[in-house]
Amino acid sequence: MAKKQFKAESKRLLNLMINSIYTHKEIFLREIISNASDAIDKLCYISLTDDKVGLSRSDFRILIKADKENGTLTVSDNGIGMTAEELESNLGIIARSGSSDFKKETDEKAPDADIDIIGQFGVGFYSAFMVSDKVTVITKAYGAAAGYKWESSGADGYTITEYEKDFVGTDVIMHLKPDADGETYGDYLESFRIKQLVKKYSDYIRHPIITDVEKSETRETGEKDEKGNPKTEFYTVSEEQTVNSMIPLWHRSKTEATDEECISFYKEQFRDFEDPVCVIRVNAEGAVSYKAMLFIPEKAPYDYFTREYEAGLRLYCGGVMIMEKCADLIPDCFRFVRGVTDSPDLSLNISREMLQHDRQLKVIANSLEKKIKSELLKLMENEPDKYESFYKNFGIQLKYGVVSEFGAKKELLKDLIMFNSSKENELIPLSEYVKKMPEEQKFIYYVCAESVRHAEKLPQTEQVRERGYEILYLTEDVDEFVIQTLNNYESKAFCNISVDDLGLETEDEKKESEEKEKEAAGLLDFVKESLGDEVSVVRLSRKLKNRPVYLATEGGVTLEMEKYFKSLPGDRSDEIKATRVLEINGDHSAFRSLKAAYENDKEKAAKLSKILLSQAQLIAGLSLDDPSEYTEIVCSLF
Ligand code: ADP
Repeated sequence: MAKKQFKAESKRLLNLMINSIYTHKEIFLREIISNASDAIDKLCYISLTDDKVGLSRSDFRILIKADKENGTLTVSDNGIGMTAEELESNLGIIARSGSSDFKKETDEKAPDADIDIIGQFGVGFYSAFMVSDKVTVITKAYGAAAGYKWESSGADGYTITEYEKDFVGTDVIMHLKPDADGETYGDYLESFRIKQLVKKYSDYIRHPIITDVEKSETRETGEKDEKGNPKTEFYTVSEEQTVNSMIPLWHRSKTEATDEECISFYKEQFRDFEDPVCVIRVNAEGAVSYKAMLFIPEKAPYDYFTREYEAGLRLYCGGVMIMEKCADLIPDCFRFVRGVTDSPDLSLNISREMLQHDRQLKVIANSLEKKIKSELLKLMENEPDKYESFYKNFGIQLKYGVVSEFGAKKELLKDLIMFNSSKENELIPLSEYVKKMPEEQKFIYYVCAESVRHAEKLPQTEQVRERGYEILYLTEDVDEFVIQTLNNYESKAFCNISVDDLGLETEDEKKESEEKEKEAAGLLDFVKESLGDEVSVVRLSRKLKNRPVYLATEGGVTLEMEKYFKSLPGDRSDEIKATRVLEINGDHSAFRSLKAAYENDKEKAAKLSKILLSQAQLIAGLSLDDPSEYTEIVCSLF
């Protein structure tokens, strides 16, 4: 029979497994048991609506058999089984959904990053090769006529043959490696070791894990001792026992399931190598009772920002897994949250499509949403470093949450978002900004720029800075839309320093400014005329202090928005263009030189006007349409 070759990626992974990069080889058992449990979950779900399965919930089990004579350890389940095609696609190639990404990542990353990749893709089955030199899988799929045997001794390939099997389900037979180099694989055949591993890693599995447990008992030998009492001897008996408690973690109280246990559950189940930033436990009683255990990751998984990432919580109903990823339980803005929800109140026979409209499910989703928010706020308050680390990864998700669906979630999210502060040199939430506002300060000031460094140097911020007011630096594309959607925070309006009236002038100062403007009207008209359509308005600035010019805008579209739209595919910058306003500092020496030129040398004044506009454009982070014209003008003035 011809051997089939593993796909390239699988082969590489197998080699890694065989040469065992995991320091804890013992986790192979957990992985095989998890697969068995998943397979049972699937058939259990079908059995709810299909009598042909012929098994009830209590019939499902996982059996572990150790055969010391042949050196094999077998894990059997009566779950859904696999067809020949499934054997081929599930065990012949790993990382089905992302094999190309896998390859790309392994090529790009250093070899010591392998472990991360393994974790992220879930290649559980292959871990059997860490302890076995041959693995045999005998399986019969639910509804299939025949069973199949898959066998492989490692990287050189695998075979699949038809095989007679009476029951639906799967046996994974691991032919353990001979003991070598201080590794005693034979230990895995000892009943105490098996029991210990099940307790350690798989205790929460909801189906019974049954294995032969040896115990010592005493019996009479039939002889008598000197005193005439019957003699006894110890002997070993072996009996089948369910070794896991079957109580899922989320059903246990805080004392029964420590944070460490929950964290390691999270890492195993959701394939993360980092601890989550917070574990949320919910035990709700009321109109709808449910339990939930949620985790907020610190970092985004590799596929988070791709279409491949599937959001949702694992949903159980009275111990039966209904859905691996129920997206309706979690709003899109919290799609990074992982975890499980379990409610006996959901209708078991409901189809997955109908579930979406289930009233109970909506009640759970609403209360989870509030719970997640309050836990994130607590984290922000009590462990700001952790929150910041979380925010650096998922803040953008929260911000998109504010603007999407016409701001439907803005109330939920407004307290969770943060921006860089001109004073703190770090991210701060809006609540902190408002708390620190001096009484006379009317607005929440912000400025948009490509980076904090750039924002710090913008001339239009001079006045606000001089008053000692804090400025929020908006450096992400979505930020400005967030502010527009929020409109205000705790009744304080936002003020875009580049566009809006700063509201700082007294009545007298306003009058003075208007007079200066009137006086300079002729010159300003001249500048506007020299610049043509490049700007819509030229005026004296009420924001600048020490710097000569800056480029403001009028109307709804700002320069940052214009840049953003320009960066999108299908350039629409002709349609979405900011109305430019050149603001000149009337107290600056540059303005005085311009004025002198305007009175004596109009040609020079026109050149100076162009230079000022170009400078304003450069400061705003825009490129010049004609840089060589600009340099020629500058040189002509030498
Ligand atoms: P993962 O479990 O993360 O998907 P594995 O490599 O452990 O990755 O398993 C690959 C696939 O093989 C599983 O998704 C499942 O479809 C199938 N499989 C593994 N073990 C079993 C089993 N005992 N019964 C049925 N299917 C199984």
